[in-house]
Amino acid sequence: MTRSFDIVVVGAGPAGIAAACAAAEQGRRVALLDDNPAPGGQIWRGPSTAHRDAVSRAKERWLHRLQQNPAITSLHGCRVFDVPGDGLLAAEQNGQRVDLRYSKVVLATGARELFLPFPGWTLPGVYGAGGLQAMVKAGLPVRDQRVVVAGSGPLLLAVAAYLRETGARVSAVCEQASWRSLLRFGASIAHTSRLWQAAGYRWRTRGTPFHAGCWPVAAHGGKTLESVTLSNGTRQWTVPCDLLACGFHLVPNTELASLLGCTLQQGFVTVDALQQTLIANVFCAGEPTGIGGLELSLAEGEVAGLAAAGAIRAAQARIPRRDRLRAFAAQLAVTFALRQELHSLSKADTIVCRCEDVTWRTVSQYTGWRAAKLQTRCGMGPCQGRICGSALNFLLEWSPDSVRPPIFPVSIASLAGPTASAPAELSAIQEN
Ligand SMILES: Cc1cc2nc3c(=O)[nH]c(=O)nc-3n(C[C@H](O)[C@H](O)[C@H](O)COP(=O)(O)OP(=O)(O)OC[C@H]3O[C@@H](n4cnc5c(N)ncnc54)[C@H](O)[C@@H]3O)c2cc1C
Repeated sequence: MTRSFDIVVVGAGPAGIAAACAAAEQGRRVALLDDNPAPGGQIWRGPSTAHRDAVSRAKERWLHRLQQNPAITSLHGCRVFDVPGDGLLAAEQNGQRVDLRYSKVVLATGARELFLPFPGWTLPGVYGAGGLQAMVKAGLPVRDQRVVVAGSGPLLLAVAAYLRETGARVSAVCEQASWRSLLRFGASIAHTSRLWQAAGYRWRTRGTPFHAGCWPVAAHGGKTLESVTLSNGTRQWTVPCDLLACGFHLVPNTELASLLGCTLQQGFVTVDALQQTLIANVFCAGEPTGIGGLELSLAEGEVAGLAAAGAIRAAQARIPRRDRLRAFAAQLAVTFALRQELHSLSKADTIVCRCEDVTWRTVSQYTGWRAAKLQTRCGMGPCQGRICGSALNFLLEWSPDSVRPPIFPVSIASLAGPTASAPAELSAIQEN
């Protein structure tokens, strides 16, 4: 099946929702698609908690605006995996291939957590920080579970607050950035609502120890997690826990942008003032252009949606605000830059690629990503290097030579094309 739209927006997080609304309000026919069952992206997924804050108010406002607009076709559970031709995206929805023809496309594919391998990180009970939050939103019970939240980034406090409200006993929040960095960051946001937001999360986690300059070095357990050893560089101590929520800030999802030929700089998609990439008719907004939080994603999404719809003046009017918010992205990058000590978290027998069970001893013998892939299958499993590739980018400064389709595992039938009749249950995983 091929469907045609003026504008296709990939990713229904805040950036994608803002882009779709802005473009549709200019009279364009818009498709908004996302691989999740409902719009909202990472931050607005699932039901709202009882706690009413700026995030939940923004969620209500934007979802209402989205639902009110008949010019937007929302395609849920729909994942783009290939770019079969000019102005064409291939997606899979409910096991069926859907081709989407567009005049303009807005990439709002968000970010994922960065996981760094350390001994025990593959034990059941060790989750990503945002990953555990997403599981709880989807129904995983955590009442009375002892949880340590560790890693880096503003997400840690948000996750700790959420887990406490859902009944977990959060024993500690451990941020690898130093107090000095955090205090400087606090001073830089002193006159903004962000300080109140951070203070709000800290209030909601009051009573839970917050350790700066502290990171996990090992997770222990038999069949499941039993404790985690933490370090502050001079001392190590072990905390009993049932769950470890651990993520080292975020990395952008840029695979689709790369497939479309967009230029990346320092891992982020290059865009001009109107969020247009260096490829004609391809716009990008939100985390793939820089990790800057909810407000920046919304602001970039609006500029991209308006520009894609041809409303250039309206888009330009929003640029100054977007640029002010971008300054915050720069502060985040400096504050939560990962410390040198994290390079030595992996031990010889620590698994780095968990899809293919490749250890640090094995992978670190190679000089680059391609050789390691060819010799060890590292990065060739179901996640296609999304986890180990980002870790190895930090640990060894490796990056992939190229991105090839399919960027997600899909059925053979979807891969073969709209007319294929191959058995749908076979899974095709890229092997190059
Ligand atoms: C796991 C996680 C949890 C987070 N939780 C919080 C939180 O609690 N509080 C907070 O302040 N910030 C949180 N953040 C940060 C937050 O996501 C950002 O601040 C911001 O809201 C991102 O908005 P976005 O629209 O750019 O991206 P996202 O919200 O990430 O939306 C991108 C969407 O695109 C979809 N997508 C990507 N590729 C494809 C494809 N090929 N086909 C179809 N769909 C695709 C993704 O599934 C996702 O739904 C979290 C981030 C992550 C990674």
